[in-house]
Amino acid sequence: MPTTEFDLIERFFAGHDRHRDVLLGVGDDAALLAPPPPGEALAVTIDTLVAGVHFRADGDPQALGHKLLAVSLSDLAAMGASPAWATLALTLPEPDEAWLESFCRGLFELASEYEVALVGGDTTRGPLTLTLQAAGHVPPELALRRAGARPGDAAPPDDLQAGEADFLQQRLDRPTPRVATGLALRGLATAAIDLSDGLAADLGHVLEASGVGASLELARLPLSPPLRRLADVGDWTHPLAGGDDYELCFTLPAARLAELETLDCGVDVTRIGTVEAEPGLRLVAPDGSPYTLTRAGYDHFGGSA
Ligand code: ADP
Ligand code: MG
Repeated sequence: MPTTEFDLIERFFAGHDRHRDVLLGVGDDAALLAPPPPGEALAVTIDTLVAGVHFRADGDPQALGHKLLAVSLSDLAAMGASPAWATLALTLPEPDEAWLESFCRGLFELASEYEVALVGGDTTRGPLTLTLQAAGHVPPELALRRAGARPGDAAPPDDLQAGEADFLQQRLDRPTPRVATGLALRGLATAAIDLSDGLAADLGHVLEASGVGASLELARLPLSPPLRRLADVGDWTHPLAGGDDYELCFTLPAARLAELETLDCGVDVTRIGTVEAEPGLRLVAPDGSPYTLTRAGYDHFGGSA
């Protein structure tokens, strides 16, 4: 058991801070970081996961370490930013060594995959809460903002049978941040967001920020087999209002749709609708009739209606 806070930091969180941006990492009063390359802006995001709200306190710590970083990298991806470094604020009920080892395995495996340096943080005792701030670079004129969707733009995102429960659990616990996709969409997408609160709610944020509306064709939504079976009986609640997808939803001029075919980003891209001047999100059922969603996306203070 690490005896002091300093031991714990040294043992678990130091030594993962090598990156060309990092002049001084973990161990001093503050990290020293190089400014972004000329012409690029710093993209900064922060996310908190609270035990009992976002994850079960007795859940797999390795998956938790992965997810904590993945959700922030997903935000950077949705801005078209390339990730660079992160800071971590960790509140732990007790310094459980096995838990920390496993958590760090998940965290640093993903961090090294995307060459993200952990440059600092804070470690406190209290109810299990994890906060990670991540930063990256993007030329501001190429950043994929929520505002930018134009009428005429197209909108692609991106009782269970054997293996399906595992598949869904895996997608929930170990999301893949679509960093390469975000980079590939620079200069092509007119607006983008990562899907964390549910497609309808998140696309709604893009439409609101852009001052436009859209028609979403439910028949076009790419669905896993279990969600497909629900859709077949007319239940579109999960693909529309279920969160934690961490796929990118973006818009681009219809005239540039063909460019998606040669987009080199390693994921399938599907066109799911069209941006329109009329505000609001119109859901179109496969038979062409309007579909009404009865459950909204996740909202920590509003709950899900
Ligand atoms: P201070 O009292 O100046 O806030 P701390 O004792 O909190 O310093 O932290 C000492 C060093 O360890 C700092 O460089 C801080 O950024 C780093 N650090 C603390 N906790 C973490 C953590 N969970 N992950 C990464 N670095 C951390
Ligand atoms: Mg501190």
